[in-house]
Formats: sequence, C-alpha cells, structure tokens
Amino acid sequence: MDLEAVIENCKQMFQDPTFGAVRRWKEAHPGRKVVGCFPVYVPEEIIHAAGMLPVALHGGGPSIEIDHADSRIQSFICSISRSTLELGLTGRLDAFDGLIFPSICDVARNLSGVWQRNFPSQLSFFIHFAQNIYSANAVPYLRSEYERLRQALEALGGVPVTEEALRHSIAVYNENRALLGQLYQLKRRAPEKVSMTETYALVRAGGVMPKEEHNALLRQVLPELEARDARPMDRIRVILDGAFCEQPPIEVIMGIEQAGCYILDDDLAIGRRWLEMPVSLNGSLPDALTALAATFIGHSVPSAIRYDGPKVRTRRFLEKCHALNVDGVIFTWAKFCDPAQFDYVLLKDALDREHLPHLALEFEEKMSVFELVRSQVETFVESILFYS
Ligand code: SF4
Repeated sequence: MDLEAVIENCKQMFQDPTFGAVRRWKEAHPGRKVVGCFPVYVPEEIIHAAGMLPVALHGGGPSIEIDHADSRIQSFICSISRSTLELGLTGRLDAFDGLIFPSICDVARNLSGVWQRNFPSQLSFFIHFAQNIYSANAVPYLRSEYERLRQALEALGGVPVTEEALRHSIAVYNENRALLGQLYQLKRRAPEKVSMTETYALVRAGGVMPKEEHNALLRQVLPELEARDARPMDRIRVILDGAFCEQPPIEVIMGIEQAGCYILDDDLAIGRRWLEMPVSLNGSLPDALTALAATFIGHSVPSAIRYDGPKVRTRRFLEKCHALNVDGVIFTWAKFCDPAQFDYVLLKDALDREHLPHLALEFEEKMSVFELVRSQVETFVESILFYS
C-alpha cells in the first residue's frame, strides 16, 4: 500500500464507530479480551501484558446520534461522555470486555459509575491517579493502583499478568512512543512534509490496532514522509491546545491548516504520547509496575488534567512556544469541558504577558458547519501576517 493509501486507511479505522478493526481482531483471537480506555491516559502496558487488546475510546464522533444516553446521563456535559454511553447503549461496544476510566474530571468519574450500573457484564475500572505528584508517597500509591488494575485484569482474563510479560509490553510501548516522537520531530522540523491531519490519522489509528502493528506501520511511513518533496508555504506557525480528551471533528483540524497554519505541536489524543521519557527497566526500581508509576509521576506531559504545581504548566507551555518559534496559539476545547476552560485562563494570561497572539475555538462532536471556524482562523492568520 502506498503512503497516501496507508493514511487514508488510518482515517477510516479511527472514524469507524462500529470498531470493525477491533471486532476483526477479536474474531482472529478467540478467547482474548478487549479493554477500552477512556481518555486521557491509561497504562495500557498492563492490559497488553494481560494478553488483551487495549483500545483508545474517543467517543462516537460526528456520525453518532444521541438517542438513548440522555435518559441516563446529563445532557449539559461534554459530547464524549454522552456519545461513549450511546455507543454502549446501542451495542457498538459489545466486543469490549471492560472499560477503564482515569481520574481526569467529575464527568469521567460519573460516567464510570453509570457504566457499572448499565453494563454489569463488563469490567468498569476507575483509576485514581496521584493528585500530589511531589509527595514521597506518590509512586508507591500509584503502583498500588496499578496493582489493583493488574488484579482486576487477571480476574477478567483468568491468567496471571507476569513481570516478564509486563517488561515485554513496556518495551513495545516504549518503541511506540519513540516512533511517535520521531513523527512529531519531523512535523516540527519540516511541517510541509506531513500535515496535522495526516499526523493525527497516524496517531489515532494506533489506538485501535495492536501496538506491534502500529509500530510496524510507523516504521514504514516515517522514511516515506521524510522523503517527500514538499516546498514550505507562507503559513503561520501555531500550537494547538485544549483538545486533550474529546477530539474535534477532523474537519476542524483541516480547516485550521487550510486557513494558513502549520500546526507544529498539539495535545490531540495526547494519551498516546503521555510519557515524555521511556519507561526505564534497568534502574534501581524494583519492578515493572513501579517503573510505570515512577514514569507517570516524574515524566508526564504537563496537562490541564494533571496538577503539576502552580507555575509548571504555564512555564512549560511558554518554553514550548519559544522553542518552536510559533507565531501564535490556537486553543480549541470541547463544549462543557471545564478542565480545558480553566486551563485556558492561565495560559491566555501567560501568552498576553509575552504578547503572543492566541485564538479560542469551541467545538463539539456533532458540529457540521466549519466555515465559521475557517473564517475565524483566516482572520487570525491575516492579523499576524499583516499587522504584527
Ligand atoms: S472532555 Fe473535558 S469534561 Fe469531558 S470527560 Fe474529557 S476532560 Fe472531562
């Protein structure tokens, strides 16, 4: 398959609300389990080590009508929570044996409880991440949460999750994060060679296929992207921030690019790139779960849904803006997403102090008119190109 066909295939895979790729995997692997992972980050290595397929869940996307979920959950919350529930209530998640919800916000916490009540035959597991990452107890505490998950998966799958299997899975995921890192390095160095829309498709497809296959796919496409003969265009350089959980329709990303932006960095589906360092198994840590927990505590990306202290998030964000030499920042968040909107206030103030232009756009899964987004971004681009 040539490069364009591979990317098109990736788009179709992650946009399929029936999870055809996951169903095919399950049919080909009788007896193996599928576990869905609600955003933003879940330690998928533990699921992988249990012989199961971890699948990233990002809601139903634009093709899902909310017909049933509103009778079980509030209608004034983010789309991803309602459409994920709708996927379950309409049987689209029947191939899943369990769902894992991380402690990112009250809505996700509520959804995990709703899930337990409505789908008693599926595992519904809520991970409580450490709130105070500077406590000496943070790593042992988080390891105990990961141990609790390991035991729940052992009960679900009926087989032990061994240290050896965990170490193997960590190696597979380390490679995946390294390859995604290479993709982003290319995007930052030569954004004309790979668009954000293409990058996004390659990242999202990795959430619905085995990591070994995704690694092979990235190993194939990276040199092909690098070899593309593309000329830089007269566009502004921006960072996209705020869509770490619910994802905007792909047309929003395309619209931003077509309006004249190179998107050099983003936090779309950031769970795939959550750990900034490889999980080290050669140090002094006693076991694989401790290594996973220590990497989460010490080397997670700064994000609205993880408290790093009063200044770290804004400092790191500004450092990134300067390192990438961006002309501006586009904030795009899901309607009703409190963590993203609270975060915006802090980052906006920091950008104002640095005189860095920014634009805010709100989206929801079911939006279907994108002209307004495009014209807002075009105006933003022109204000930077012609008036800065
Ligand atoms: S989109 Fe925002 S409010 Fe909704 S589940 Fe995600 S983090 Fe929570």
